[in-house]
Amino acid sequence: MPIYAYMCGACGHAKDVLQKLSDAPLTACPACGAAAFAKQLTAPGFQLKGTGWYATDFKGAASSAAPAKPAEAAAPACGAASACGAAGCAAAEV
Ligand SMILES: [Zn+2]
Repeated sequence: MPIYAYMCGACGHAKDVLQKLSDAPLTACPACGAAAFAKQLTAPGFQLKGTGWYATDFKGAASSAAPAKPAEAAAPACGAASACGAAGCAAAEV
């Protein structure tokens, strides 16, 4: 299944979403609930728009979903401790 990079136009919340091609696109932001959650057509681009949006995005996920196993978790290109949500970092989200 393809992974889509979504970002909320209201609060800037970004997330990679695994969806079937037949799945309806998401519209509701999981962070703020606004109906401004939309696919990013140029996933690598939005990574450069801001610095640190992923810090809040993954603040909760990092502690629970990222046990300290640096040997196993390849460092994502962005340098974040865990998957940052960009397309290039999707592989690190395990
Ligand atoms: Zn939002």
